[in-house]
Amino acid sequence: MDDIVIIGAGEAGTRAAFAAREAGFSGTVTLIGTEPHLPYERPPLSKPLDGAVQMKAICTAEALEAAGIAYHRDITATGIDAKNRTVTLGDGRTLPYGRLLLATGARPRRLACPGAGRALDFRTYRDAATLFSSVEASEPAAIVGGGLIGMELAAVLRDKGVAVSVIEAAARPLGRAVPPRFAERLHARHREEGVSFHLGLGIAEITPDAVVLADGSRVAARTVISAIGVLPDIALAQRAGLATANGILTDPFLCTSDPHIFAAGDCAAVAQPGGGATRFESWRNARSQAETAARNMTGAHEAFAALPWFWSDQYDLGLQVTGLPQPGHQSILRPVAGGELEFYLADGRLVAAAGLGTGNGVARDIKLAEMLIAAGIEPDPAALADPAVNLKALLRSARAA
Ligand SMILES: Cc1cc2nc3c(=O)[nH]c(=O)nc-3n(C[C@H](O)[C@H](O)[C@H](O)COP(=O)(O)OP(=O)(O)OC[C@H]3O[C@@H](n4cnc5c(N)ncnc54)[C@H](O)[C@@H]3O)c2cc1C
Repeated sequence: MDDIVIIGAGEAGTRAAFAAREAGFSGTVTLIGTEPHLPYERPPLSKPLDGAVQMKAICTAEALEAAGIAYHRDITATGIDAKNRTVTLGDGRTLPYGRLLLATGARPRRLACPGAGRALDFRTYRDAATLFSSVEASEPAAIVGGGLIGMELAAVLRDKGVAVSVIEAAARPLGRAVPPRFAERLHARHREEGVSFHLGLGIAEITPDAVVLADGSRVAARTVISAIGVLPDIALAQRAGLATANGILTDPFLCTSDPHIFAAGDCAAVAQPGGGATRFESWRNARSQAETAARNMTGAHEAFAALPWFWSDQYDLGLQVTGLPQPGHQSILRPVAGGELEFYLADGRLVAAAGLGTGNGVARDIKLAEMLIAAGIEPDPAALADPAVNLKALLRSARAA
């Protein structure tokens, strides 16, 4: 009984199903997803093209069939019997597994104030379709949460001519994942575009036409979007008796506390070499963890070691961040056409980089920065800062050394 069952047909689950085949696995691969669609990408939901919600499928039905992946959509896995190695589905069916992958992702955190039920979540295609079909240019909207998704939605709604307010409990938007320099640039751009910010205040109530802030002031809003982050979907794992914390805990090989069950993507909290466990919420992380987990489920023994990377698009600006920039790092700025890069050194070694520029303008340099980080270079800060010094040449000399 070496069947692979995958719970969750998002980026991680779907990628893992194909990666198991690419690793040469010839047994049964079953992919179970609660949502009614073909597996689809989430990032385009908050980056609509010409104002229309995008449904970008991860794969076609034909590709699933050709790879011999049995995809069960619109059905929830309701229980795991880890002792007998079976999964129970919402319709009562039971599936045996040899290896099980939990790729259950994350779900939106919910507001808890009176009227919270009026706020729209934003995670699924259905959420996006609901928002973009209900919002009217003539009616104001408020976004609670100034993180990446809240700020992307603010840009989209401004492009549609909607009066947008962003309400954020912290003193600044984008404080969590975005380096301060670029968070400030994006904040400034949103102000220029006419977004009104209410910072440093929680919310007391949501009424039919306003969000009431903790100080009693009212922010007019006919549409309210809750974008206050996500919680890993760990309920199934907890019921199965797996170790969990802020995610389903795994070892560096993405194996959970049960040797037959793996986890990948937004739901997985992966043990780190220096201790502790880290959970990332990003598209590439979901894909690369899925690939490692699939290989390990089919006999390999690889520690997960990809460099974190994410992007965000707001108006015509593209942000990319690789590695984990920290306040204690030495920062080196480098101007590039239409934007700027910031490199981060720890004890002289390049460990992270970020860039903000027009469109996809910083993508190539960030790719090179990733290669420089992987090469473990200790660059001359003056060379990194100098736009006349080619990053490719730095990479060549690092590799030659
Ligand atoms: C609007 C939006 C924009 C984003 N933009 C970016 C971006 O610009 N850049 C970036 O790097 N990242 C971005 N992300 C993050 C990225 O999309 C996620 O990190 C990635 O989708 C995580 O993939 P996942 O497969 O782990 O989880 P998910 O995509 O959440 O998939 C999990 C799936 O499992 C299903 N599921 C859960 N429990 C069960 C169960 N018991 N039975 C069956 N099915 C179940 C869920 O319904 C869901 O479909 C964005 C996310 C969102 C929501």
